Amino acid sequence: MIIAKHINNAKNIIYLIAFMYFASISRHITCIPFVSRYKGIIFDFNRTLYNPETNNLTPGVIDLLASLKNSGYRLCLISKATTENRREEISDLGLDPYFVYIQVNEGNKNASHFRNCMDILECNPEDILVIGDRIKGEIYLANQLGMKTIWYKSGKFSTELPSNEKEKPNHTITILSDVLKYL
Ligand SMILES: [Mg+2]
Repeated sequence: MIIAKHINNAKNIIYLIAFMYFASISRHITCIPFVSRYKGIIFDFNRTLYNPETNNLTPGVIDLLASLKNSGYRLCLISKATTENRREEISDLGLDPYFVYIQVNEGNKNASHFRNCMDILECNPEDILVIGDRIKGEIYLANQLGMKTIWYKSGKFSTELPSNEKEKPNHTITILSDVLKYL
């Protein structure tokens, strides 16, 4: 009886280890669904998805967006209208099919722009991941609203460090596709 009980316990431990291993690798295989903590993702445009110095998308952007969309995430894009025809530029870059909502603001980003996205995504702030290059912009605003944040530490603002708790991101990446590690 005692031996049988030990064998049973050992089996349960093996099943648990196997389950944990499977859960960890399934995050990297798009055809196997896994339960993510996030329902929606908001991307910043300038210097996150798009490099204004080269006038090109950040390398790997289309693959990343396609992977996220295919995994069931609902994506929003927020951009300041730093050029006259920013909305058309976004369309010309082929980004429209990946987003459920694209917000182009005349001025700097503010909390209402993120609330608009939250309304479209129909979920709580903690279910939303925000990714951007500005500690004092989207990271600060999203943290204030209770969203989760990833700082894409790259380009012109990569040396602008957090000066208070609300400017601290949940995660920091230097390669955009590393977003996938934090879902
Ligand atoms: Mg930016």
